[in-house]
Formats: sequence, C-alpha cells, structure tokens
Amino acid sequence: MSPPIQMTPVRDRLRVAIQKNGRLSDPARALLSSCGLSWRESPDKLFCYGESAPVDLLLVRDDDIPGLIASGLCDLGVVGRNVLDEQMSDQRGKGREASVREMRALGFGGCRLSIAVPNEWEWSGPAMLAGKRLATSYPALLRDWLALNGVEADIVELSGSVEIAPRLGQADAICDLVSSGATLAANQLKAVEDILQSEAVIAGPVRDFDPALAGIAEMLLRRLDGVVKIRDSKLLMFQAPRAALGDVLPLLPDAEPPTMYPVDGEGMLALQALCHGVVTWQRLEELKRAGARGLMVLPVERMLA
Ligand code: ATP
Ligand code: ZN
Repeated sequence: MSPPIQMTPVRDRLRVAIQKNGRLSDPARALLSSCGLSWRESPDKLFCYGESAPVDLLLVRDDDIPGLIASGLCDLGVVGRNVLDEQMSDQRGKGREASVREMRALGFGGCRLSIAVPNEWEWSGPAMLAGKRLATSYPALLRDWLALNGVEADIVELSGSVEIAPRLGQADAICDLVSSGATLAANQLKAVEDILQSEAVIAGPVRDFDPALAGIAEMLLRRLDGVVKIRDSKLLMFQAPRAALGDVLPLLPDAEPPTMYPVDGEGMLALQALCHGVVTWQRLEELKRAGARGLMVLPVERMLA
C-alpha cells in the first residue's frame, strides 16, 4: 500500500506575529487596529482571529518572530530591528542566506544598541576594547562591529541582566540596548559607541508571498504606509496672494506640493498642503508674515496614496 500523500494546506488568511507581553505589544496592536483590523480573541490569547479582514494575530516572544517567518508559520511580524538584525547576522555567520528581511520601519520602540564601559574609563575609541571581556545578548551584531573596527575581544553571551556583569566581575564592559541611559547610570556605566539604531519594524520573508496571501499582505502594507506616513502630519489650509508664493512656499519644506486654486479673482489663492513635520505657532506666524492669511491646521486621520 502506498503511504498517504502529505500535503501542507495552503493558507488563505495572513498571519501576523506580534510580541505577547512587552514593550512592543500595545503599540503593535494599536498600529494594526489603526489599519482597520479587529480580532476575536481566543481565551488563551495566543491566537487572535481577524474579524474585519483575513489577518490573524499570533502572540509570541519577540525573539521567536524571525524564526516563525523564516519557517513560513507566520507571514509578517512586528519586531525590534535589534532582534531581527541579530538573528540575520547570526545566520550569515553560519553561512546561511537570510530568509527574513525588514520591510518597513514603524517609528516606535526606538532604542540604541550601544557599547557601555565603566564611568571611570576615559574613552579613546574601539581599540580600548582589545583583549577585554564584553557581556552582551547580541553576540552576532557585536562580533560584526568588532570585526569592522579590527578589534579582538572576548564576547561573554548572557541572556539578561547584562548591565550588572561588570560589577559582578563577569566582564569588563557591555554591549546592550539603551534608551534613556538610566539603567546604565544606575550601574556606573556610560554609553560610548552606538552600534545600531533600532526601532520596531515589519519583518517579512525574503521570498515572495504565496499567491493566496500576496493581495492581503499588499493591502496591509499599503494601509500601514498610510498610517505611518501621516502619523505626525497635518493638513495646512490658508490663503495667500499669488505674488507672495515665493516667500510662503520655502517655509513649507516638509510639505507635499500644495493644491492651489484661485479665489476672489484678485490674485488670491487658496492653498492646501499636507505637512509631514510639526506645525508650530512660530511657523504659522512666519507664514503670516510672509503673506499667508486664514491659516488652519487640520488633523489627518488616514490617507490612501
Ligand atoms: P520577550 O518576552 O518577548 O522576549 P523582551 O524582554 O525580549 O520580551 P522587551 O523588553 O519587551 O522584550 O523589549 C522589546 C523590544 O523593545 C526590544 O527588543 C527593543 O527593540 C525595544 N526597546 C525599546 N526600548 C528598549 C529598552 N530601553 N530596553 C530594551 N528594549 C527596548
Ligand atoms: Zn525577547
């Protein structure tokens, strides 16, 4: 008798992995919700069934996200660039091709992966680390950075509490995530070199999506672009004499080309400009001095380019 044919069922719902508990959980969920997604939670909350679109959520540890995408169990994930780059660099170090890539930066979860040394060291550059022991949870990224700087040092891999390693005598210095620097200061350490600027990103496969999922993934990425792009944007509406445009427009370097139409037939124009930067009072006053009138700043909820 021939053995039964094993077939992996083709999925027709997109699976997005996000962190279950941690710094990226709430902002990741909020971002996906603002893309119009909603879920019916399962009681154990490891899997949330998408109600408004065929997009389900998988709630996992952030470190598992790149592997879930690489294995095809998930299609996209929200993860720190630090975690994604570390795992990709680890794969490269083992001679394997990366199967996961960064598809979008999301503008939250910002932090730096930095080298920190005891406060009393007078930092003179990476060469100071030669022959020293460096504690880190990011051995692959640290190895790359040391190689780039031509420094040979011992890497002590720790899974947590890296910042107390120098005090415990486990290491001379560390390579760890820093946001405010308060944890370093509490351990008499100071950051001296940044090796990675990190933020939350959308990770996805290097290969193409299955045809059944490609359309859903494109829809989600398009909505994400709309939300991320306009997060700090405002619609600026005002009027200005045509003759003043030469003074007014240079004050809007971060705006999309404005829509203009004539009003009153006396050389006056009505303008609408989508500004991606912060529109402060000071900026409005400068615009007014340059000839703009009736300035209005409006919030932008969503955009489809
Ligand atoms: P998990 O249980 O999912 O493994 P974790 O302890 O690894 O959680 P968190 O501490 O919640 O993860 O951090 C998640 C991500 O938040 C980090 O990988 C990083 O990208 C980002 N982040 C932002 N600021 C910081 C910070 N000051 N320290 C650590 N991570 C930060
Ligand atoms: Zn983690």
